[in-house]
Amino acid sequence: MADVYVLIFAPGGATAKAALEPLGAGRGLAQALNAKLVGVVVGAGADAAVEAVRRRADAVVHVSGDALQSYDVDAFTAAAQQALEGRDARVVLALADSIGREVAPRLAARLGGSPLTEISDVAVEDGRPVFSRPVFGGKAVAKLVGRRDPVVATVKAGAFEAPAEGQAEAAVETLTAAAVEPSVEVLGREAAPQTGVPLDAAPVVVSGGRGVGGPEPFQNELKQLADLLGGAVGASLAAVDAGWVPQSYQVGQTGTAVAPTVYIAVGISGASQHLAGISGAKHVVAINKDKEAPIFRVAEVGLVGEWKPIVDALVKALQAGK
Ligand SMILES: Cc1cc2nc3c(=O)[nH]c(=O)nc-3n(C[C@H](O)[C@H](O)[C@H](O)COP(=O)(O)OP(=O)(O)OC[C@H]3O[C@@H](n4cnc5c(N)ncnc54)[C@H](O)[C@@H]3O)c2cc1C
Repeated sequence: MADVYVLIFAPGGATAKAALEPLGAGRGLAQALNAKLVGVVVGAGADAAVEAVRRRADAVVHVSGDALQSYDVDAFTAAAQQALEGRDARVVLALADSIGREVAPRLAARLGGSPLTEISDVAVEDGRPVFSRPVFGGKAVAKLVGRRDPVVATVKAGAFEAPAEGQAEAAVETLTAAAVEPSVEVLGREAAPQTGVPLDAAPVVVSGGRGVGGPEPFQNELKQLADLLGGAVGASLAAVDAGWVPQSYQVGQTGTAVAPTVYIAVGISGASQHLAGISGAKHVVAINKDKEAPIFRVAEVGLVGEWKPIVDALVKALQAGK
């Protein structure tokens, strides 16, 4: 019977915060298709990931080996292909993070399947898996069906919840990754300076837009608020284009997609391209002096007014509560 596979990438054992979320999409699909949910963990030293997947899937395949100590697109694509070879996969899902976005389409090509990207929902209609993905910056939703199996799809972070942990009953099959000649030689790796919580893993994101008026609030008020909430500072494209913050701060369609519990938009109008990056946020709070600003259509809590006194009051209240 054709089964549902979920890839979990764990170079050197490290996984993305949202790595288990595609298992939630996979579980629903497997149930509707009366199929098995198989977790495929790709990475060396990934015992913790294997254990986490064992508690949520019906079976686990773990591909390990020296080549999977750190991420390399050729090695990880080949290892995923090795894990799926000879198996009857109908659907293969992977998180739409930097690794999933590189590996999934290559894997679809190698398996002769259908690549789909950034899916946010999936259902079974007339026995066929139907995938939804936001298009036109989130203004519309496309419904897609793969013409060739397996469908290899990346799953938007925040679109699904990881299944609840069960008993570790799934059998684990371990494979050793075959040697692969990398097509690119890595001359060196330099870690980017990391200040605070990374944007795509932050439980709270405080983003500033053109309305905050300059670079200083990102260093002062917005940072202070984010720090008090254990979160990260983000920005709209307008703030990045103005040179107030580096591009790494940008949230949206062409920036980082975030999935925090709380997203606080300060002086951001709420253009569709910005909203495309926050669809995974559980709660949106907007601070804007224009009560007609589109951001209020997606905000659960809207504060209409000048941003500075509002943010100062929030900071003061949080400091008093500490
Ligand atoms: C192909 C493409 C891709 C794009 N990708 C992205 C993307 O990834 N991310 C992104 O953000 N944008 C993206 N954009 C740009 C997007 O369309 C908007 O131009 C941008 O998001 C606007 O940024 P903003 O909300 O900060 O600025 P504005 O739209 O200028 O909004 C500023 C807001 O601040 C409010 N304001 C002003 N002063 C104050 C004050 N003192 N107190 C409180 N509120 C105040 C105003 O009422 C206004 O609503 C993209 C555009 C295109 C065409």
